[in-house]
Amino acid sequence: MKIVAIETLVCHARMRNWVFVKVVTDQPGLWGWGEATLEWHTRGVVGAVEDLSQLLIGEDPTRIEHLWQMMHRQHFWHGHGIVRSTAIAGIDIALWDILGKVAGLPVSKLMGGPVRDHVRTYCHLGGGRMEDFYETAADDAKRFAELARQAVEEGFTAFKSMAVPSTLPLEGLRPIRAAEQAVAAMREAVGESIDIMVDCHARPSPAMGLSFAKALEPYGLYFLEEPCWPESVDGLARIARAVATPIATGERVTNLAAFRDLFAAGACSVCQLDITHCGGLSEARRIAALAEAYRFALAPHNPQGPVSTAASLEFGFSQPSYVICETVHEDVPWRSEVVREGYVVERQGRIVRPNTRPGLGIEIDEEAVRRHPFEQEILQRVFLSDGSVGDW
Ligand SMILES: [Mg+2]
Repeated sequence: MKIVAIETLVCHARMRNWVFVKVVTDQPGLWGWGEATLEWHTRGVVGAVEDLSQLLIGEDPTRIEHLWQMMHRQHFWHGHGIVRSTAIAGIDIALWDILGKVAGLPVSKLMGGPVRDHVRTYCHLGGGRMEDFYETAADDAKRFAELARQAVEEGFTAFKSMAVPSTLPLEGLRPIRAAEQAVAAMREAVGESIDIMVDCHARPSPAMGLSFAKALEPYGLYFLEEPCWPESVDGLARIARAVATPIATGERVTNLAAFRDLFAAGACSVCQLDITHCGGLSEARRIAALAEAYRFALAPHNPQGPVSTAASLEFGFSQPSYVICETVHEDVPWRSEVVREGYVVERQGRIVRPNTRPGLGIEIDEEAVRRHPFEQEILQRVFLSDGSVGDW
């Protein structure tokens, strides 16, 4: 069996262009689907997939690890820059899908699963609708409470919010109190049996992140995400030591060695590797094995498209320490037209039972994808109160 083509299909989904990767074999009707979505870098990733495909055409698609090593190590530059690691991920996920189809088994079974009966999912406030999730002002506590209630009414037992505003490297009490009031309002709205997550989007400096973490600690967050830059390993470790709240990070960390440094420093206790950015399921398994030695929880980052979600679920059914799957369901109203999925989300509790179809259990409707061709993503340019540049 040989790989004969590696194609990219770009599907514009408002905030993101989903980049689907199709690895085609010389066997009639046998191909695999991957995803390499990287917002604001769509053209770069599509080009990187094309560059990598030169290494892979004519190769046996079932030699996944061998091909991964080729993609990561050949052509001199190692594959851990974000564009190339995302391109590698898209191809790697598609290779696992092919292997599952060849074996007639779901990917989670190829990896020794399933290790659990169901996977729990969580949503973004507003189901991932850009205006609700990213643009609710941190001082609008009432709106946070409404959206929190809505998530619970939709059956979710956990949700994520962006209740921490952008701040200068040092600010006084005002933003801290705003975040605190937003979280207090959500807790008041949903009670203590629902898990609330707050994503800081790595906006705060380590000092501000520490202040936010201390202020939010009494509200019993399920985790506090990216309270400062992932590059500030010491800052993350200082915050993690100072509060009981589990600290989550890893969505922008693209390789095993960088996770080793995070873990060894005690910089988190929830590993948010992104399967579509860290080199795919092959590297994700290595990162998970390393995390297992520390007994860290796995909660992969997944605000992207439906192939990414399917990959995260298959991973979740194969990893003992996987605790929850991130999902968005209201980013675009036609999400379900693009994909046929092998799993069902139970509305009560929003849990997922194992997929029983081969591979990732999905099929992409290429016609539906063509109805939403590439458009430039909406620019997100963040400037702070004094006009200086901030993080999105
Ligand atoms: Mg995040």
